[in-house]
Amino acid sequence: MSNKDYYQILGVQKSATKEEIKKAFKRLALKYHPDRAPEDKKKENEEKFKEINEAVSILGDDKKRQQYDQFGSAAFSGAGGAGSQQGFDYSDVMSQFKSGMFGDFDDIFDHLFGGSREGRKHAPRGADLLYETEITLEEAYAGSPKSISLNKLERCPKCQGKGAHEFESCPHCHGSGYLKRTQRTPFGVFQQTGPCPYCHGKGELPQDSCDDCGGEGLIRRKKELEASIPAGIEDGMRLRLPGEGEVGEQNGPAGDLYVQISIEPHQLFQRKGKDLHVTVPISFSQAVLGDEIEVPTIDGKAELTIPAGTQTETILRMRGKGMPSLHSSDKGDQMVTVHVVVPTKLNKKQKELIKDLHEEKPQLGFFKKIFTSTLF
Ligand SMILES: [Zn+2]
Ligand SMILES: [Zn+2]
Repeated sequence: MSNKDYYQILGVQKSATKEEIKKAFKRLALKYHPDRAPEDKKKENEEKFKEINEAVSILGDDKKRQQYDQFGSAAFSGAGGAGSQQGFDYSDVMSQFKSGMFGDFDDIFDHLFGGSREGRKHAPRGADLLYETEITLEEAYAGSPKSISLNKLERCPKCQGKGAHEFESCPHCHGSGYLKRTQRTPFGVFQQTGPCPYCHGKGELPQDSCDDCGGEGLIRRKKELEASIPAGIEDGMRLRLPGEGEVGEQNGPAGDLYVQISIEPHQLFQRKGKDLHVTVPISFSQAVLGDEIEVPTIDGKAELTIPAGTQTETILRMRGKGMPSLHSSDKGDQMVTVHVVVPTKLNKKQKELIKDLHEEKPQLGFFKKIFTSTLF
């Protein structure tokens, strides 16, 4: 492993003062901070940023600098890490910065991150909203647009979310949004630039207050939306509509809207996963002789064959007549329970016929076999 030249990395002389090291670091940190890099240069800048952080962590510390001057970067291999690729922990440096170990550098990071150590560059995101809606099983089957009406915070259209109509250049920062402050640090006294606290870095101050939103920039309004319900949706599922939640303060991004679906119980069908269950009555003679009958399905009527000799509560399967799948093109089945209705009122002729049937005696061979093997 080759020795690293930390002086060269920071672009300073070996005789550089702390002040010069500090300045060089600040200039390079601003230049190479990965958060500020264009997308295609992020990786490259991150490497460079790590390198300058590594350099300043040694040269900014008197004792380490002395060791480094004597032994080179090899002095730090494996001991606390700085100097070896494996040992140097970039996130560690970042946390040291944030915890204030390099206290006097914090303001640089304030500057880099746009105002505070928590990272003001992210304006607060608006709240997510939850909207509950009930749909029919037919709607869940077909998939359908569902209109949604809700009250939510939106950017005030009158002032475009600024809260005022008249603005004047901030007299404190002269419209730049930044203020210079003098800092006293162990490295000496120097000028530090930070966001202007009077205008919060905006460079201008409101001269009035918007009537519509009372200066908040946000307004609660009724909004109509349409959620598209996918075919096959299940009870309790949530749809996410990105950016349809409440708008954020300080022009922050909007939250998301979640639409919670519940499906009304159906009068005829019961859903079990992708299958639909339904019970249909058939007559005694249909059960005995078999028949073609019409049964309801979620998608209209369909023909079902009742085989001759169907017992009551038999379940017949109708393939592909169930619910669609959210993730594939197959459909579930419809399971039809046939319920044989025993007639309660018979006319004279019907009674005669049934009596004749009774004389014939039903074939009990099957039952006899069971009785003889288990009971007798
Ligand atoms: Zn200002
Ligand atoms: Zn307004």
